[in-house]
Amino acid sequence: MKKMLFLIPVCCLPFVHVQAQDIKEKEVERIVATLSADDMQGRKTFAPGNARAASFIEKEFTRIGLQPLPGNHSYRQAFHMYNLMPLEQQAVVNGKSAPVIMLGSEAAVHWDQSMHIPVEHIKASDNFYDRIFRLQRNGRKAIVWVDTTHREMFNNYAASLKGGSNEKDSSAAIILVLTPDTNITRWEVKANQQATPLSLCNLGGMIRGSSKPDEYVIFSAHYDHIGILSPENGDSIANGADDDASGVSAVLNLAEYYKHQPAPARSILFITFTGEEDGGYGAAYFAKHFNPEKVVAMFNIDMLGKQSKFGPNSVFITGFDRSDFGTILQKNLKDAEFKVYPDPYPSEHLFYRADNAELARLGVPAHTLSTAKIDVDSLYHNVGDELKTLDLPNLTKIIEGIAISARSIIAGEDTPKRVDKKKM
Ligand SMILES: [Zn+2]
Repeated sequence: MKKMLFLIPVCCLPFVHVQAQDIKEKEVERIVATLSADDMQGRKTFAPGNARAASFIEKEFTRIGLQPLPGNHSYRQAFHMYNLMPLEQQAVVNGKSAPVIMLGSEAAVHWDQSMHIPVEHIKASDNFYDRIFRLQRNGRKAIVWVDTTHREMFNNYAASLKGGSNEKDSSAAIILVLTPDTNITRWEVKANQQATPLSLCNLGGMIRGSSKPDEYVIFSAHYDHIGILSPENGDSIANGADDDASGVSAVLNLAEYYKHQPAPARSILFITFTGEEDGGYGAAYFAKHFNPEKVVAMFNIDMLGKQSKFGPNSVFITGFDRSDFGTILQKNLKDAEFKVYPDPYPSEHLFYRADNAELARLGVPAHTLSTAKIDVDSLYHNVGDELKTLDLPNLTKIIEGIAISARSIIAGEDTPKRVDKKKM
């Protein structure tokens, strides 16, 4: 719902005008150039180049003079995941041995029917992967009898985990057992895996709001990328200049811009996430550890480095119709050159494919702003995604435009409607 907080005629509101010189192209370029340089090795999550990118962003937050997130003492929101390598895993069901898949980060389980382990079923009529996704989201331990109609998917899934997989820090073991039996009276499972902890971090800084400090507006982007690919013309580093060094540059330049403005009404968080390309680990962790009810809006920024399908100085917004976030931005941009449009690629499901999704699932009006020509950009996730392919003057204008578009939300005048969780 849109709150009308002041009954002052609009002409008397103190408009904050973003001047062209407020966002500096040289700064925009410096940050993209640093993050997309070859020595960052494509910023792959868990690789040293990713850690170098994190250190660079941390220094930038310090230079700009942001505060840490509420309850934090540094800009790093550090957490763990596990690299899991299956070891010996076996089940005996009604006296017959059956194949096993172990999920979760626990090192070993030894369960049997006497232990009151919650029992689940993946029946013939169930969607195999959907059921597993839901079981994992539940986060409870379980023994799961999988109907043998899913044998092929079960085997493929087991094979995909065999060489090692990265999992969230979830001690709740879920054991999948493929069995034709429906009346199971005796069973025993022994499963072991090598669980190696992996550390990773998001980086977050804040400008505290003056009158509504407990209401937060987020500007975010992901600093990880996909690392090293097979060589093309002697180049193997996926530099990720557009994806998403351009977004991180936008977040840092917006932080610098707001830092030089009078204190905003609402608190502004500047977050750079890790693990986006590997499954949104960073945003998922953040969403679990920050009260979503306090987040009024999220401007997630992913790939702004080129002109959008709608031409210069424009972006599209994913999930435009999921809240009135987009129409509020359009209202704020009524007299501006910068324009925002609904996502022109609905079949790509981009609303679910970026870091906004983790917060949108919790009801936050969390949307991604992008210029990506996702249907035709041959450099997407390619070693050719380099600084020289970006349109830096356009990127600079877009960052200015985003600040204008956010004005009434930052000022506490407009509050976007919540996303309907049931439709997520
Ligand atoms: Zn990407």
